[in-house]
Amino acid sequence: MKTCSQCKEVKPLDAFYPQKRGGTDGRCKDCRKANARADHWAHRDVHLARMKERHKANRDAELAAMRQRNPIYYQANRDKFLAQYQENREQELSRMRAARLDMHDHYLRWLICHGSHLKPDDIPQSLIEAKREQLRILRELKKENHEEC
Ligand SMILES: [Zn+2]
Repeated sequence: MKTCSQCKEVKPLDAFYPQKRGGTDGRCKDCRKANARADHWAHRDVHLARMKERHKANRDAELAAMRQRNPIYYQANRDKFLAQYQENREQELSRMRAARLDMHDHYLRWLICHGSHLKPDDIPQSLIEAKREQLRILRELKKENHEEC
């Protein structure tokens, strides 16, 4: 048994991740996971930008591989490939936009967590409903200015 340095609970050793240099982590798996989640939500913009970069790198790599495999095919289909890619990308973005406009639960969760120490899993449904109501009023007020939030 071991005491977690974060939640101070006494837990069996298999509740802790083993460390490379031996022994186990000071924080339990639950705390580690909660930290990773909180980190994700706190740095959402950075994560999104990184995702976008990976996306683009992936696309370029696919194009390069295509060119190497078959240069003639590449010349003929490059634009088609890019158009297809662009379409997928726009679909993805419009899904994200719909989540915002329709006030999906996960979007509201994110709004509540953003800039706070709350984790998405800690938020009760009643708080999400309250946030939805608040956002609805806010949007109503902002409508005249054509602002989005
Ligand atoms: Zn813990």
